[in-house]
Amino acid sequence: MAGVVHEARTAAAGDDAASGRTSPPPPQQRRRRVVVFPLPFQGHINPMLQLADALHDAGGLAITVLHTAFNAPGPAARRPEFQFVAVHDGVPADVAASGDVIDIIEAMNAAMEADEGSAALRDVLASVIADEDRPSVACMVFDANLLAVPKAAAAVGLKTMVLRSASAACLRCLMAYPMLHQKGYLPPQESKLYMPVKELPPLRVRDLFYSSWSDQEKMRNLFARSIEATNTSSCLVINTLDVLETPELERIRDELHIPMVLAPGPLHKLSCKSTGSRLRQEDYDCIKWLDKHPPESVLYVSFGSLASLDANEFLEVAWGLATSGHPFLWVVRADSVRGLDGPDFPNGFGATVEGRGKVVRWAPQQEVLAHGAVGGFWTHSGWNSTLESIVEGIPMICSPQFADQMMNTRYVEKIWGVGFEIVEGKVERGKIDKAIRKLMEEREGSEIRERAKELKKKVAECLKTGGSSHIAIDTLMKHILSM
Ligand code: UDP
Repeated sequence: MAGVVHEARTAAAGDDAASGRTSPPPPQQRRRRVVVFPLPFQGHINPMLQLADALHDAGGLAITVLHTAFNAPGPAARRPEFQFVAVHDGVPADVAASGDVIDIIEAMNAAMEADEGSAALRDVLASVIADEDRPSVACMVFDANLLAVPKAAAAVGLKTMVLRSASAACLRCLMAYPMLHQKGYLPPQESKLYMPVKELPPLRVRDLFYSSWSDQEKMRNLFARSIEATNTSSCLVINTLDVLETPELERIRDELHIPMVLAPGPLHKLSCKSTGSRLRQEDYDCIKWLDKHPPESVLYVSFGSLASLDANEFLEVAWGLATSGHPFLWVVRADSVRGLDGPDFPNGFGATVEGRGKVVRWAPQQEVLAHGAVGGFWTHSGWNSTLESIVEGIPMICSPQFADQMMNTRYVEKIWGVGFEIVEGKVERGKIDKAIRKLMEEREGSEIRERAKELKKKVAECLKTGGSSHIAIDTLMKHILSM
């Protein structure tokens, strides 16, 4: 069928033995299937496939993953029990290479909404539904930024649910975007950066979702349409949990026109299996390296999959880590330094940090944060990284750059008290050294660490039987099986 590429036909219907479950689900559950369609960026792919893991492992549902050619999962990133089906995304090579997330999403949506693209997407969905070798499809869970999905799904009679991979606070901010512009909070003005946004406490103007280099009109349009797309669905799943965002979730439940809003996060803790949804190869040597270090002694440093530094900032970070005297594990991607093909470490850096510092291209981050030797996380405050750190009780130094990273930092510092923002302004080795010492040596750092450990316990309660996240995933399962 046009537009459909069946790339993995592994287990036949209901043949889920490889999942490693101890008790198989009731037979009626084995006959249902969920189609998932993540936005093809690491921070969105991970939570969607973690949700798929949970639905498969705990609920016995079969899973079909739709994916684009842009950032398509490689063979190692495909869980063999899942079916992977390609969807034509139409992102031109120059847009893909630009790295502008808003432009890439816009190009993808435009292509999938154009006549030919939407017919191709409909064909893919029709063919997935018609596949009688697999369990019947109950519904589709899609990323709210994939705007072509609601229409295509409705055309083939497929019910939809939405996953939002950022925080509830972030969704509230996007819902308030028209108001934020009307009232002059956005675009942010230099003189008002520290003005509180009284409609969205505890945010100040500088904490609002904003990317100065993205086209503002495109951004506003994308957010408005993604809220519309969310409102067309029977259920909204947010990768968060009640204990972190109670008032934000309440407001969302009040303000959106959706029958069900669920917060079963953190999704990566709901399944004992890890899908291996990573777009990059993880370096597991760093776990052996961590094994050699005393408890809570190592600072883990990673700025996620997209954030980057300029060449001078990179040098300052390198020397800041070197002069702090603390052991560190630093993730430096090939594209971590803007304008360079690869990172250029300063002369003498390797010798100075010998035995104390380790640099990897990509780390198994969840395992790293769960390792007893890790005592702090210097992060860009992406939502997944923030949740992963909170779950493990690791205190954070935050260096937000764009999108929701500023507001995540605000919550880390002001609401949960489990980290602090590195002093604003220019990246300088002296500030870095000071921040690391504050977190790893000083009394203020110990207090933050204690709060992080307390929060970890509260999160663990939510995940237990009868806890809010556990109840939410149960409710979601029942909802899917009732479709
Ligand atoms: N990540 C990883 N290894 C690394 C760095 C990051 O596995 O070396 C994962 C991390 O665990 C998280 C995701 O990449 O799940 C990054 O998502 P986040 O929302 O934190 O930031 P983004 O990359 O979207 O800016």
